[in-house]
Amino acid sequence: MYQHIDESGTVLPFVAHKAVCVGQNYLAHMQEMGGAPAKQAVFFIKPKTAFIAVQDVIEIPHQFGDVHYELELALLISKPLKNATPEQLDDAVWGYAAALDLTLRDVQLELKQRGHPWERAKAFDKSCVLSHFKPINSLAELAEVPLSFKQNGIVKQQGSTGQMIRNMTKLLCEASACFTLEPGDVLLTGTPAGVGPLSANDKLLLNVADIAVETEVVLSE
Ligand code: ZN
Repeated sequence: MYQHIDESGTVLPFVAHKAVCVGQNYLAHMQEMGGAPAKQAVFFIKPKTAFIAVQDVIEIPHQFGDVHYELELALLISKPLKNATPEQLDDAVWGYAAALDLTLRDVQLELKQRGHPWERAKAFDKSCVLSHFKPINSLAELAEVPLSFKQNGIVKQQGSTGQMIRNMTKLLCEASACFTLEPGDVLLTGTPAGVGPLSANDKLLLNVADIAVETEVVLSE
């Protein structure tokens, strides 16, 4: 069973319940997907069955078309948040991790065309890949940190959290107005441009701020 861990591998005292994710939070990624800015943040949820640790191999389904990587900064919530104000946030986030929001892109495009919800494309088992978490004192530490993703040694995504359309404070306040965030929940903050398909045996390198983790892709049974 998945558990949140710190850099030394120690299990953190927060049970993983759900991930709240935001779509279209970096302009260049929104443009590559053919989207237009939305008045409200585009949120979706991954259930706890979606969590998988990055140090395990990443298993991707093979029967639903392309599975895309989306590198994201993840925040670990440590205090209940409902209708949060910015002042309530700094001691409500334990730390951050590198995450992959795995996406069944062909399925998602069809769902978008039909105007249907995205769960089939976003909430499947093992679709939320998480590294260990590192602690922060305040969200300001993460305001302008780099993100980069390499696939088989080639840089595919490169960006900075400073490019977010909605910063982390706005996302947490807006998300907590929609859903209560509980200790152990994770917020995925969106992906920069450069998303693309994964293949079996890919070697991946995820970099977010000072976190760098490697993993490998296998096809699920
Ligand atoms: Zn995403």
